[in-house]
Amino acid sequence: MWSFETEPEFQVQLDWVGRFVREEVAPLDYLLGSQWDIHDPKFVKLVRPLQARVRERGLWACHLGPALGGKGYGQLKLALMNELFGYARFGPIVFGAQAPDTGNAEILAHYGTDEQKKRYLEPLLANEIVSCFSMTEPQGGADPLVFTTTATREGDEWVIEGEKWFSSNARYAAFFIVMAVTDPDAPAYRRMSMFIVPAETVGVEIIRNLTFHGEPAATHAYMRYNKVRVPLDSMLGGQGEAFVVAQVRLGGGRLHHAMRTIAQATRALDMMCERALSRVTKGEPLGMKQMVQEKIADSWVQLRQFRLLVLETAWLIDQGKDYKSVRKNIAAVKAVMPQVLHDIAARALHLHGSLGISTEMPFADWVINSFHVGLADGPTEVHKITVAREVLKEYAPCSTLFPDAIEPEAEARARALYGDLLES
Ligand SMILES: Cc1cc2nc3c(=O)[nH]c(=O)nc-3n(C[C@H](O)[C@H](O)[C@H](O)COP(=O)(O)OP(=O)(O)OC[C@H]3O[C@@H](n4cnc5c(N)ncnc54)[C@H](O)[C@@H]3O)c2cc1C
Repeated sequence: MWSFETEPEFQVQLDWVGRFVREEVAPLDYLLGSQWDIHDPKFVKLVRPLQARVRERGLWACHLGPALGGKGYGQLKLALMNELFGYARFGPIVFGAQAPDTGNAEILAHYGTDEQKKRYLEPLLANEIVSCFSMTEPQGGADPLVFTTTATREGDEWVIEGEKWFSSNARYAAFFIVMAVTDPDAPAYRRMSMFIVPAETVGVEIIRNLTFHGEPAATHAYMRYNKVRVPLDSMLGGQGEAFVVAQVRLGGGRLHHAMRTIAQATRALDMMCERALSRVTKGEPLGMKQMVQEKIADSWVQLRQFRLLVLETAWLIDQGKDYKSVRKNIAAVKAVMPQVLHDIAARALHLHGSLGISTEMPFADWVINSFHVGLADGPTEVHKITVAREVLKEYAPCSTLFPDAIEPEAEARARALYGDLLES
């Protein structure tokens, strides 16, 4: 059955979320720095009371199943909520749904020991700590097969050695999930394993923190793991299973990013339309000019198409499909997301003229953010390759020299089927 309706009771929750984010959460973006600096006194004063309101409303960490204290809403409802959270930078953290903690929590829930769950997962879900996912290396991110960080077994410890790049939130994280080569001679995708490393472990070093344009604080770390020793049970999943473990977080993570990106693109479109109706040039509002109308129409259609793809993907997962079987959809969502945000934010910037390009408006940040969402969790090209490969799996080569649809052959088949009727 197909339906585009929202249950009335859930719509009441969505209406509350939308109002709450716009009126009470969005102002924090102008007052606070990094949303991961959870011990900053200003964060404690301003964010904690809003998180308490979300808990009272029963909307905390809705991505989690009931076993972990969430609602078990499923991806479709989560999509509808995330596209509201994404309106504000502090939206996700106020609702307990911020990356990379959500994905890291999924890994711990799947692979953590009881002790690791108690020590890391529970406080992570309560936002008493934050975490870091440390996978990319300076010599390459899009191709994990070039990673060189190693974990070598010495007695009852693993010793991790190597460098990582753009490890977001490392400076605030209580623990790191680190990917390292444990079996250099194994087949390509069985060479690496995943480890949990407490931040205070000797040898964990932040070389420097990087930031991208428009970010309020430098939070992406260039890291060095200097002979970092962790106990054997620090391995998450089996030896050589790092790629399987990573997929647990990346599938959902990419989709949730897309849901939040819808919010940012929607804001850009809203502002573009407001401008088109407000600015008068050569005797008429901008919105009366056909070239401006084209920008508005293209933006609306692009956003609508993207949102439908995101919602369809969420729906497929809710039908019980695992991330592997919706890989094509997730890769497609990831590949199209940067273009949608880029185009709509850039058009909104342009229609606002000099004001649009100034730092007093958020458009340039959103344009840069379109490059962020096109790189983080893998660049667009790689996801397009996945889409194409998955699409091609659904086809077979034609069995004859010419394609089936070639006219003389198709006509001959049609005549074989209907020739008697035609003649009678
Ligand atoms: C804001 C932000 C936050 C991030 N946070 C994290 C984090 O927390 N943890 C973490 O581990 N990593 C993180 N990353 C790193 C991210 O995963 C990498 O940037 C990404 O995988 C690309 O790797 P790279 O930057 O080394 O680019 P490269 O691998 O050098 O790729 C550069 C470009 O080469 C082209 N390219 C690459 N491969 C192909 C191909 N197969 N076909 C055609 N063209 C190709 C693409 O145009 C691509 O953009 C983050 C990145 C950003 C921007």
